[in-house]
Amino acid sequence: MFRTLTLTAIALPLLASTAARADWLSGEDAIMGTSIAVQLWADDPATGDAAVRSVFDEMHRIDNLMSTWKTHTELSRINATAADGPVNISDELCALIDRALDFSTVTGGAFDVTYASVGQLYDYRAGVKPDDSSRAEALKAVGHDLVDLDCDEGVIRYRREGVKIDLGGIAKGYAVEGAVATLREMGIEHAIVSAGGDSRILGDRRGRPWTVGVRNPREDRGAIVTRLPVVDEAVSTSGDYERFFEVDGQRYHHILKPGTGKPAGEVISVTIIGPDAVTTDAMSTSVFVLGVTDGLALVESRSDLETIIIDARGKMHFSSGLGAPERPQ
Ligand code: ADP
Ligand code: MG
Repeated sequence: MFRTLTLTAIALPLLASTAARADWLSGEDAIMGTSIAVQLWADDPATGDAAVRSVFDEMHRIDNLMSTWKTHTELSRINATAADGPVNISDELCALIDRALDFSTVTGGAFDVTYASVGQLYDYRAGVKPDDSSRAEALKAVGHDLVDLDCDEGVIRYRREGVKIDLGGIAKGYAVEGAVATLREMGIEHAIVSAGGDSRILGDRRGRPWTVGVRNPREDRGAIVTRLPVVDEAVSTSGDYERFFEVDGQRYHHILKPGTGKPAGEVISVTIIGPDAVTTDAMSTSVFVLGVTDGLALVESRSDLETIIIDARGKMHFSSGLGAPERPQ
């Protein structure tokens, strides 16, 4: 899944000149099983190229730390052994799992990285789902309270056999947040970095807001239900269309209710706007699980978050801070 890195100057210089000049640069690649895109304004092309590359480097670094598809990553090693006794964990992974466990508390268990104990029984490409008895058995190993984490000591332990952690609901947000932090350190002031449905925006688009589109969940890529103007914030969308298969008209997708081990069915798309992409990523997955009433209540309880929820009938629900539905146009 590795495509050639493409670097494109997206605004042509008005005057042909060999002198270094400020310009927009963009790049795209496929990493972490998703498409990564960056656009940024750089004062000179060399800095711009280095900045674009730094984004992809960061994505590869996170993938090599946290992927559960690759057996050599730190998280895969932990999943293989932490039920046998305490194992060492790096500060970085410990801090992110700690944040993930906090989101479990905040969301009443809707967000739970141990969903993977049952989630690993689904194969969306092959159209495989667990039968009722294996699902029930695997559910015994789902629960954020089954993870003992001590970041001072740098150790993690799972309290029972079968527990697995997967950070798919938070890692892309973490990666784009890290990538933008690096850009900021390089002196970049205007950028957008996206990993699939998670985008982090740095600054504005030189005098205008950036716009992030919310996809129509039941149309082809490119069909947009609304556009959000965003400056210096993060936006994440979770949808039931990213990974799914259908059996007898029933859609089996990749966001699971930790209580049942079955896909959450009340809504089909959730967008969260918030201060950082770790929060928006975890919250979009959480509100998806919680559904319209409980999801809206959670977002309304926090002054730093807004949401657009599309329910199973296609109706859009907006948190109060977004005002009238026309706002995004
Ligand atoms: P995507 O951008 O891939 O659509 P989301 O942010 O919507 O990702 O998160 C979906 C991913 O989150 C799933 O692929 C899975 O890895 C993980 N996940 C699924 N259910 C849960 C859950 N209840 N709590 C935490 N993570 C989950
Ligand atoms: Mg998410």
